Amino acid sequence: MKNYSEWNNKTNKPIGIINKNNTCYMNSILQILLNIDPFVYFFLSEKYKEYSDNILLKLISRICDYWSRNTKKTSIYPYKFIKNCLNEFDIDLNEQCDAHEFLCNLLDFIHNECKYSVKISYKNRKTQSELIKNCKKNWELFCKDNYSIITSIFIGQMRREIVCKCKNKSISYESINGLTFNVNDKHIKNSFDNYFHNEEIEYTCQNCKVKSTRKLIKRYEILPNYLIINLNRSNMYGNKNTHQYLFSEEINLKGYCEEELTIDKETKYSLMGAVYHHGNSLNYGHYTCMVKHRDGDWYLYDDDVITKMESEVNKRVYNSVYLLVYKRN
Ligand SMILES: [Zn+2]
Repeated sequence: MKNYSEWNNKTNKPIGIINKNNTCYMNSILQILLNIDPFVYFFLSEKYKEYSDNILLKLISRICDYWSRNTKKTSIYPYKFIKNCLNEFDIDLNEQCDAHEFLCNLLDFIHNECKYSVKISYKNRKTQSELIKNCKKNWELFCKDNYSIITSIFIGQMRREIVCKCKNKSISYESINGLTFNVNDKHIKNSFDNYFHNEEIEYTCQNCKVKSTRKLIKRYEILPNYLIINLNRSNMYGNKNTHQYLFSEEINLKGYCEEELTIDKETKYSLMGAVYHHGNSLNYGHYTCMVKHRDGDWYLYDDDVITKMESEVNKRVYNSVYLLVYKRN
């Protein structure tokens, strides 16, 4: 598969993934990744071979290939992939693992195997503001020798700023692979507002040396193409918090971006997948997911059982949603 547009016009049917040993967390994450086009194409086009010949990458490529081929089978059992993940990430097959942790492990692994040096070019350097120059300088620093398909899909850059009473500013930059929100926020809109507008921290000013509680101002300067939102469902006693958490199909990050840097950039996102955790404890239970397929329809995946979702309302299971993935429009 050498041509992206040729592949992009193809359709294929959804395929289930068999669960024999508590691997529903892997299955749910795989279903999400299989519907992220640039991720699949990286493996289908065998581009990964330019960077690494690691067996786990070959096995991901094999799954992508099988998934895209439209065979008669309605499910697969990627035994070798599971076995290699267990070894690579030091997972016990008998344990229920955390889906978000598995996703991070897998993305980190692919990134480290496939990273390369990149030089980001400055355009119109002289006419750019300090803000834009600093944003690009920090992004360049982060990407240097450290860029990969994973960076291009999932990573964004955030600027954190604290302003002291003496007007001294402390600015730092963070490359970020998603956001973690608390289900106690009850609604994704509240989570965004709390995260970006309401966080306060203890801060000692480098200039006047005064210690005080100051507002931490966060702004996206570079938006990710796919935004992973992990929901914290553990309560203060370490048990699972089963509160409802409402989320919408469309979100707009305009109010959380540095205006000057995103003025002509797309800030709207659409939901493409959600992972659910069912059960009263985070240490056991069951993972399922719903994903928007390439044909535009939504499917619910419960391992090898696939249900096409007819009603929009059915898509959202508010008291078990655990991880959300939004695609930039
Ligand atoms: Zn100060």
